[in-house]
Amino acid sequence: MHITPANIQWKGDSPFSEQHQDIYFNPDQGLQESLYVFLNSNGLDKQLRHEHHPFDLSIGETGFGTGLNFLTTAQAWIDSQQRGQLTFISVEKTPLQRQALLKALNRFSDTLSLIDELGTQYPLKYSGFHQLSFLSGKIRLLLMLGDAAEQYSKLNANIDAWYLDGFAPSKNPDMWSPELFEQIGRLSKPGTTFSTFTAAGKVRRGLKAVGFDVRKQKGFGRKREMLVGEFIGEDKPKPSPKPWFNLPQKPKPDSVVVIGGGLAGCSTAYTLAKRGIQVTLIEKEAELATGGSGNPQGALYAKLPVKPTNQGALHITGLLHTLNILKLENPDQTFWQQSGVVQLATSEKEAQRQQSMIEGDFYPESLVCQKQKEELADIIGTQPQHSGLYFPEAGWVSPREFCQHLSQHENIKVINTELDSLEFINNHWTLHACNGDKITTSHVVVCAAEQTKNFEQTEHLPLKTIRGQVSIIDAPATVVTPKTVVCGEGYISPARDGKLCFGATFDLKGKERNITDQDHQENLSNLADIAPELAVTISQQQDKLTGRTAFRCSTPDYMPIVGPAPLYKNYLETFAQLRKDRKWDFGDAEPAHYPNLYVSTGHGSKGLITCPISAELIASMICNEPLPLPKDLIDMINPCRFIIKNLIKQAI
Ligand code: SAM
Repeated sequence: MHITPANIQWKGDSPFSEQHQDIYFNPDQGLQESLYVFLNSNGLDKQLRHEHHPFDLSIGETGFGTGLNFLTTAQAWIDSQQRGQLTFISVEKTPLQRQALLKALNRFSDTLSLIDELGTQYPLKYSGFHQLSFLSGKIRLLLMLGDAAEQYSKLNANIDAWYLDGFAPSKNPDMWSPELFEQIGRLSKPGTTFSTFTAAGKVRRGLKAVGFDVRKQKGFGRKREMLVGEFIGEDKPKPSPKPWFNLPQKPKPDSVVVIGGGLAGCSTAYTLAKRGIQVTLIEKEAELATGGSGNPQGALYAKLPVKPTNQGALHITGLLHTLNILKLENPDQTFWQQSGVVQLATSEKEAQRQQSMIEGDFYPESLVCQKQKEELADIIGTQPQHSGLYFPEAGWVSPREFCQHLSQHENIKVINTELDSLEFINNHWTLHACNGDKITTSHVVVCAAEQTKNFEQTEHLPLKTIRGQVSIIDAPATVVTPKTVVCGEGYISPARDGKLCFGATFDLKGKERNITDQDHQENLSNLADIAPELAVTISQQQDKLTGRTAFRCSTPDYMPIVGPAPLYKNYLETFAQLRKDRKWDFGDAEPAHYPNLYVSTGHGSKGLITCPISAELIASMICNEPLPLPKDLIDMINPCRFIIKNLIKQAI
């Protein structure tokens, strides 16, 4: 959904909110105020000074504003040389424009070292969760764009300290609502602290009502009073309306085995390795990314639904997350290119779909905008026959090189061996290789595409394959080739190393592993609609076409399967009543999962946008960190969903 930027005035070089008639921070002593009111009043200065063991810290803030509180806290974390993980979660309804944010922060540039990095990663204005990563992932910022109460209601986290900022309750009464306090209580545990610049009675009562002990103390500068306190409420999980989605909670492991060396496996291994975990990545082939992740070029973009849906939200969040990783890991763009993607309206139906989508105004223009044929000619470099959508942030990636790059982290060891089975004995997983070798580990993540079904524990997952073939040819010298990725029924990427790659077919039944002429013809016919002149030239040298066939691993709802592996038989028993009564009151029914066994599979042809964010989700689950996706999206991809749907349908 669309997010409206902040409407600000400048008072000198300090921003002032037009809407709320309030300041973002103390114009004379912004940094000192942030340290006094938030860091110190939560006792974090002492903790950072005296705690010598590595520890993880999760801070929740209301009102990101300029990011000053985030940057001051991150700097204190850096200066005290912490070795743990800082996760700073904040929410913002009307974000500052990037330029305004940088202008407001400019005066702190000698003291706060992450300002430029924040400016580079600052997200575009799309409502939902955006994860930014600093210092090789040691500091993470989960920035939720949207209303505070609504966004926090979607968060799954244990917060250690709250920074309750947001404009003064008298000037912004809507934010300091009972709904927000309820979420703050839900996300707190005994010992969670809070501090806020205000001493308003509404805030004091609201926090008390959800379980906080609230005290007044001297405010900053000329402010008489402010509030601080600690959560003394119960540490009881709140009842869930859908208990089958409840997640297991365990301490962070030292080592993990990831099975499968495609995009899902390599991104999971990388994300865990960045957390300091030793990862063994097991791939049965001699090289990484030989399956669905092995094409020379893949389009990095999300085809958006006309109206926002959870599927669309996952794809956009995933696209933006992958882009952040690529920019960080490969700033020179050697194995990817932010070339932009054009989605042509190749039929009347598609033209109407695109028109409705743009009229709905659900997506920010910086993500997608509509362009006429003439405008597209400049963008693509050749004249298309149709108008279409332009995604300026999107582009293409070489998935195989991406996988290779991700797996080069020093904490990852790759083993090329085929596994036969998994066994949980003596509180550990034993992985039996086909050659008789055994590997033991506490945690396993299965990222083995459709071969995930080969393991007894995950054989119930409804995975299917979809055959696809891309066509490859030397870029003809006589015709101009596109500068961007261009999609219609098929897609073509810009030439790379003199080669053009276009495709791909989509065959639900095909099992043929060889390249077929029939598929080349289909790719050429689709190309004729998106780049006619090029298609004619290539048709004249069809004998020079080569290609690649792969099998995408997909699921019945075309959403990936990501999360803890359910104990199938236990689910059937625990939730059997759903067969008779879908409105059944679950009582204290708790689902059971295999200990420390997770899956990430079924990414279909969208692995470039769904694998890295899924990896982040699984790593956060394994390490008990705040989860990087809203709850409804996590539930949407939970591996247990098919068991529950089938019970309700009485299909099992
Ligand atoms: N913590 C900020 C910093 O370090 O710069 C300053 C926060 S400023 C005082 C208050 C912020 O709360 C503004 O950016 C405002 O847009 C945001 N805000 C106000 N109402 C909100 C709401 N209902 N949901 C989310 N954010 C809100």
